[in-house]
Amino acid sequence: MKQSSCKKLEQKIYSGKRISPEDALSLFSWDLIDLSEAGDMRRKLVFPKEEVGFIIDRIINFTNICEAACNFCAYHARANLIKPFELTQDEICAKINELVSAGGTQVMLQGGLHPDYTLYTYVSMVRNVKKRFPQIYLHSFSPSEIVHMANKSSLSIDETILNLKNAGLDSVPGASDLLVDRIRKKVSPRKIGKDLWCEVIYSLHRHGMKSSATMTYGMGETNEEKIEHLKAVRDVQDKTGILRAFIPWSFSPARTGLKDIEPATGIDYLKIVAIARIFLDNITYIQAGWLTEGLKLAQLALTTGANDMGGVLMEETVVKATGIETKAGIDEFIDIIKNAGKKPVLRDSGYKVLKKYKSRS
Ligand code: SF4
Repeated sequence: MKQSSCKKLEQKIYSGKRISPEDALSLFSWDLIDLSEAGDMRRKLVFPKEEVGFIIDRIINFTNICEAACNFCAYHARANLIKPFELTQDEICAKINELVSAGGTQVMLQGGLHPDYTLYTYVSMVRNVKKRFPQIYLHSFSPSEIVHMANKSSLSIDETILNLKNAGLDSVPGASDLLVDRIRKKVSPRKIGKDLWCEVIYSLHRHGMKSSATMTYGMGETNEEKIEHLKAVRDVQDKTGILRAFIPWSFSPARTGLKDIEPATGIDYLKIVAIARIFLDNITYIQAGWLTEGLKLAQLALTTGANDMGGVLMEETVVKATGIETKAGIDEFIDIIKNAGKKPVLRDSGYKVLKKYKSRS
């Protein structure tokens, strides 16, 4: 028998009402099956189709030289796992050429906060890519990179974004980590805090550009702080409506400066997906994080509230540096989606369906 407070919350969720942070916190104690059903039901309210999309894209990490040197990151050069590198513009374009040959449509340029890079470095990168590949959608950089560019060039965030937009940048991934300043001070003290992250999103909104939000959990935060992050994301989305997707993933401590932290479990991940889906009633797409959680757990997430598989990435070095290497091709994506009882579709960066694949039934 469920307690009456639990029943009341169940009614609230199933009637489609917005839940409070206190309600969301209590969901951590729910049985996983009940929580998953509630998550999938809320997914149906915002996205009634049974389609699950994916995109063919490539992350190009153009440098690992980074003055932030965050404790939770295994990718930056000072972590001593990857030798310092910087790609030339020609090397970047050669990688995009391979993506185009494979039918890809989106590029995510992302790098460390290089001490010598100014806004000019990034603007010329964008211009060069757009000149050679006008058909490619550039979903690139991050709020912390934008603040870095602004600081290095003594410009405002608005001026920086306007310059990038005029050069051809299409949208910016949210890369929000965990929007809890207590944790940020511990794991990434030289990276931007929550307020500046929000400032960048508001500025993108003023410039008519889209973004997304992520959630890196399992870095020693409490459940209250997990909900604090979700609340920050929901509030920003209420004000802007520019977050196209939410992407939660667990932190992998093994090769970082936080290796004493116990890694999050698969159950933790499925609960986060379901709670995020129920709490974030204003975001349409929740991505299943196959890259960090593995394909089988990502498949399960499609039944607890997630409705997108993200990108069939041709290259990725940031997660790989943590020791996790998950690879997937289009056929695997189609099988995973079909076997979850969903309809696989290829989509573009704006979530427009480009191709439907035959469903299982
Ligand atoms: S997370 Fe980003 S900002 Fe922090 S060290 Fe890694 S590359 Fe640099």
